[in-house]
Amino acid sequence: MSGFENRRVMVAGLGVSGRAAARFLAARKAALVLCDRGPDIGTSELPPGEIHLGDDDPAWLDGVDLVVSSPGVPPDSVLLSEARRRGIPVLGELELASRFARGPLIAITGTNGKSTVTTMLGGILERAGLGVFVGGNLGVPLIEAAESEFDALVVEVSSFQLETIATFHPHVAVHLNLTDDHFERYRGLDDYGQAKARIFENQGAGDWAILNRDDPNVWALAPGLRARLVGFGFDAPSSGDDAIWPEGRALAFRIGGREGRVELSNFKLPGRHNLANAMAASAAALAMGVAPAAIEAALAEFRPLAHRLEFVREWRGVTFIDDSKATNVGAVVEALEAVERPIVLIAGGMDKGGDYAPLRKPLAEKVKLAILIGAARDTMRRALDGATELAMLAELADAVGLAARVARPGDTVMLSPACSSFDQFRNYAQRGEIFQKLVRAL
Ligand code: ADP
Repeated sequence: MSGFENRRVMVAGLGVSGRAAARFLAARKAALVLCDRGPDIGTSELPPGEIHLGDDDPAWLDGVDLVVSSPGVPPDSVLLSEARRRGIPVLGELELASRFARGPLIAITGTNGKSTVTTMLGGILERAGLGVFVGGNLGVPLIEAAESEFDALVVEVSSFQLETIATFHPHVAVHLNLTDDHFERYRGLDDYGQAKARIFENQGAGDWAILNRDDPNVWALAPGLRARLVGFGFDAPSSGDDAIWPEGRALAFRIGGREGRVELSNFKLPGRHNLANAMAASAAALAMGVAPAAIEAALAEFRPLAHRLEFVREWRGVTFIDDSKATNVGAVVEALEAVERPIVLIAGGMDKGGDYAPLRKPLAEKVKLAILIGAARDTMRRALDGATELAMLAELADAVGLAARVARPGDTVMLSPACSSFDQFRNYAQRGEIFQKLVRAL
């Protein structure tokens, strides 16, 4: 795999990771064929090569020896189906990158919490004095780390990326949770779960698998794994197996023959789910041999990432929270659990085909008004009708206006959409920024 010189390599999908893969291949003198469905994406920064934009054309594959595909390109696209039919190997950027990585890989997947845990764990390992790369699906693509030595490479991995692995082999693999998401791509939870479970497929007895004991969809994978297992969960384990769990204001652990506690007195993230995230990150660090003191110090410093239950401001006694990154129902359930006070919820956006019914109970218990916006609002109304009072509006700006009029001192107004943002915004970050601007202008 080291020689790309004069090989004709197609990069399918020219987003952040595709462009990074293209630069990597260009530096190794591959003859590049660069493709993207977007008819007018910027091409000025691309390395030299043939460029094809717009609808897939199988002829672009003529003479191609290898396809490097981006996570956004569905496996049943014309190009990838045709490549497989012709017997041309198709690898993802993650797979390619992992073949050139120098140092143990720590991979984190799950429906929610990947970015939080990846960043948290990166902070812990740095605090412990290791030379760490942090990236993957979040931030810097793994290919940027190729051929540089690291003590650990912490990578967030999505199900889309895991679809195109072959030899990707994390020394530590973390699976956080599995709930409905991305059903525009997958046939259902099983199909989606199978893609995620591939994180473990190349692990052996010398590796570590860290799994959520409280998530039946995740824990069901445990018996089939070859790696050493650590379960994280809210109850103390009934057996002597390796595990981590909360005990007072600390985490108790038994991992790889070590037992002890990680004090959480200064850990400030809100919500049970963030305690679960802290357990997962701590378990991975402990499996890497890090001392509890370094974990405690890093967790005390950790602040929420932007647009994840981010406090925006208090206005006339009302707290405003930006949880724009909550693009599926599971994340919104945790957000509603994390907030104590009566909530005015702003949700909606682009539907991803999941079931909204798990929102009915928390809506009934805590939400005085749910304002549904965007393309998904009718679908959501049908699923949530009767759970609480609902209001239907097209635009985020109108939703913020209504929320501000309805909320009383002591209430919380929260944007936690349960949908992706692509109907009205560039991405979740832009949606969150616009929300914050509207809230600051009140
Ligand atoms: P990801 O990278 O998997 O999308 P993030 O850390 O960016 O995860 O968080 C995405 C959303 O999910 C945010 O709204 C966040 O508050 C919520 N969240 C974070 N951790 C969890 C968890 N363990 N379970 C459920 N929701 C979570």
